[in-house]
Amino acid sequence: MRRLSDWEMPQFIAEVLNERKRNGERKVYLTFDDGPHPIWTPKVLDLLARQQVPATFCVLGAYAAEYPELIRRMVSEGHDVANHSLSHRDLSKCEPDQIRHEIAEANALIQRACPAAGVRYMRAPYGKWTNDVIAESMKSGLMPLHWSVDPRDWSRPGAEAIVDSVLASVLPGSIVLLHDGAPPEECDLHHRDASRAQTVIALSRLIPGLKKRGFVIGSLP
Ligand SMILES: [Zn+2]
Repeated sequence: MRRLSDWEMPQFIAEVLNERKRNGERKVYLTFDDGPHPIWTPKVLDLLARQQVPATFCVLGAYAAEYPELIRRMVSEGHDVANHSLSHRDLSKCEPDQIRHEIAEANALIQRACPAAGVRYMRAPYGKWTNDVIAESMKSGLMPLHWSVDPRDWSRPGAEAIVDSVLASVLPGSIVLLHDGAPPEECDLHHRDASRAQTVIALSRLIPGLKKRGFVIGSLP
């Protein structure tokens, strides 16, 4: 098999998941990026627990170190924890040794927060994949994880718009991108742009909406 080029590997994985619709499965996957966050992550976890659905949290290593109890809560409540780098640098502009450092440090900090967290996936900050980012992820034993449904919840378009956007484009196998936190440059708790209140409200309607349409919200394979 030829080497997959930039973007192809994450897209390839999304395709593999999309294949499942041909087997009659109507699974969809919820992913939350840029946490854990002391205000929003517990609210997301409460909702997921109430609705009894699993999710994947793509966390920053720096935040995992700051809020290890939230990593432990994710794992103990049956969610997956994925690597979203140490500090949310644009890895497409980094040298391979810097990429390696961002991935390895995040893994170490997640493991330190919760030794039971079996990290299986890597999501590149901003979804910016290059061959180096993919290669370093794979060398660390992490599968690159992109997304197929992006309601741009971080831009705060309104909870209703987030729900409508997901329900309009979701398909069996879809990986939905949402945010329970914000990158360091926006993480000042008083920074308005860091609010994930719309995401939380949207999630409370989105989960029943997906279930009503026959989707099963599952854990990533
Ligand atoms: Zn991010």
